[in-house]
Amino acid sequence: MKRREYADPELVSGYPGVGMTEEDRRKIDESTVELSELMTRPDLLLYATGQALSATVTRFFATLEELTDEETALRVAYQMGAKHGAANYGAFLANRGLRGGPKAFAEYQDYGHAQRGPRHVGACFAEYDETSVLVKRRDCVYFWGTRGEPNKFIEALERGMYTEGYPSVDPLWSHTENAHCLCKGSTKGCEHRFVFKKESDGG
Ligand SMILES: [Zn+2]
Repeated sequence: MKRREYADPELVSGYPGVGMTEEDRRKIDESTVELSELMTRPDLLLYATGQALSATVTRFFATLEELTDEETALRVAYQMGAKHGAANYGAFLANRGLRGGPKAFAEYQDYGHAQRGPRHVGACFAEYDETSVLVKRRDCVYFWGTRGEPNKFIEALERGMYTEGYPSVDPLWSHTENAHCLCKGSTKGCEHRFVFKKESDGG
């Protein structure tokens, strides 16, 4: 398998927040950072924004479950994933004049991982070949909770993306193999293999 031509490891090592210390993270997570430091350090801001996204998504579904029931909250999470996947990957393909398939999807994954802060950028860069894309990550900005404990809402959200959202806009899409995932209770991270039909197989 190979990576896209732009896949320079220095883009990841030099990314804002990748070199943050544990104390930096704790100051954001515990809301003890000084305002003057927060407002002058893009790395802290980017991490804080990612944490806000992460917490908000899971708290939204947990609140929905409290006010309705588990089935409703999971259905909303799945549907949101489906819509999010179709809208974002659909726009990425259409606006760049791409049809789909492993090479395009590898770049879409890198693009998504690169724009959501230091927890997500570690998934760069995806590997791909003629019929698949492999994404490995030790951390995921959508995962909120304790590592080793499943997050059923994020599991449903992600499942919506790759079983309904992405396939609806990529004619070469086949299926996804999800070896392990933080949201399923893995402690080590996520490994997703996205499988595609060969160009000549139709689609
Ligand atoms: Zn995952």
